[in-house]
Amino acid sequence: MTSFDQRCEIALQDIPLQQALGSAMDHFVFGRLGAFSALPHGEALRDHARTIRANTLTRLDEHLLAFEASALANGSQVYWASDAAEACDLVVRIAKAESVRKVVKSKSMLTEEVRLNDALETAGIHVVETDLGEYVVQLSGDHPSHIIAPIVHKRLEDVAELFHDELGTPLDATIPVLTTAARQALRHAFIDADMGITGANFAVSETGSIVLVTNEGNGRFVTTTPRIHVALVGIERLVPTLPELGTLLQVLARSATGQPLSSYTSIVTGPRRSVEEDGPEQVHIILVDNGRTDALKGELAEMLYCIRCGACLNVCPVYRNVGGHAYGSVYPGPMGIVVTPAIAGLDPWHELPQASSLCGACTEACPVRIDIPRMLLNLRAESVDRGHAPRWLRLGLQAYGWAAVHPRLFRLGAKIASLGQHLMPRTKQGWTRHVPGPLAGWTDSRAFPPLAGRSFSERWEKKTARSKDP
Ligand code: SF4
Repeated sequence: MTSFDQRCEIALQDIPLQQALGSAMDHFVFGRLGAFSALPHGEALRDHARTIRANTLTRLDEHLLAFEASALANGSQVYWASDAAEACDLVVRIAKAESVRKVVKSKSMLTEEVRLNDALETAGIHVVETDLGEYVVQLSGDHPSHIIAPIVHKRLEDVAELFHDELGTPLDATIPVLTTAARQALRHAFIDADMGITGANFAVSETGSIVLVTNEGNGRFVTTTPRIHVALVGIERLVPTLPELGTLLQVLARSATGQPLSSYTSIVTGPRRSVEEDGPEQVHIILVDNGRTDALKGELAEMLYCIRCGACLNVCPVYRNVGGHAYGSVYPGPMGIVVTPAIAGLDPWHELPQASSLCGACTEACPVRIDIPRMLLNLRAESVDRGHAPRWLRLGLQAYGWAAVHPRLFRLGAKIASLGQHLMPRTKQGWTRHVPGPLAGWTDSRAFPPLAGRSFSERWEKKTARSKDP
């Protein structure tokens, strides 16, 4: 497997990716800013949303049990999955017990996280993704690169070529032609499917409802047309009451796409009742832990406030340059570099917390004000403690630490560095163009600021000596 650095190198050389990312990210960012600025109490709404998330997670056990009781009372069946394997196993067992051969899915990051499609296909069950972006991803054997815009890395030409091969549309097809072709293909899939699988943007404890927001209406088809609906719900997705849900929906849509509300908000409360014409005969809700309880106990608990809006990805200078695939995780961008180690462990993902400039743009954009830089610093410190820092960095920091407690030596080193910089090629402003050794990569794309001729302590000594002069 390639390293994070190698994947970034590939992404940075990918001109179409760079073009696709720039315009798409700006579109989302300006949409979000416009949506919140049009709201008189936008900042207060964000504060309220954060309070709801914090309070819910503080008493998550109670809210989960309340949700289970409400959902059972509605006629849904509720299951608990401690990890990805158990979640997939439950879905496959339900499908086999009901002789399910065909499944339609709406977009769900949790099902990506647990790799549900692989498990279903292995069990001989055919799966069709029905979100347009996810459908393109599935047809092309690709992976999503953004949590709300799965094909943000693809251009119109890429999709036109794919649909030409798969659905027979012209190579120069326009967007309406492509979407019509997808709609026709998916319509058959909805009608043929025995089971619809969704995630849940939220799950409401007081009503036992699953809440889905989409802009394409596919979530409604998935939850109403097949005779069985299975919903996978991350245990942190709980919201206690419907009024609190209203607050979260308002900040979610504005932060994700700049809309006051998503085009479709579906609240699914149990299977079809005898007086209803539409809806599934069975609703199965699987509450998935998969590392969340452990995350809740530690320094990264705040990350579970995340409502998966994607706003932090859109503003992140790293994501905006390398896109989602470089991260190697289902969850990219600032939220992903904390969520992934939080739920899947730091050791296999120790490179990810480095993928940030710590500029704080993510926290500024986050509707629930998650302090991502703080958690990144924790993860970086833990990563060093576990021996993941490169050897040259550890030795360099040890040497620096030793010199820092030996003032004379430190001053001598600073003097040598200050004089030595004049031997390097420099810009007009006096900045060093090329630093040697392991820091050379730093000056490949930027100049190194000049070191001061006199150190701070020298200046301080001189200043205090002057002020003591009579
Ligand atoms: S961390 Fe905040 S901004 Fe990023 S996806 Fe989660 S809720 Fe949205």
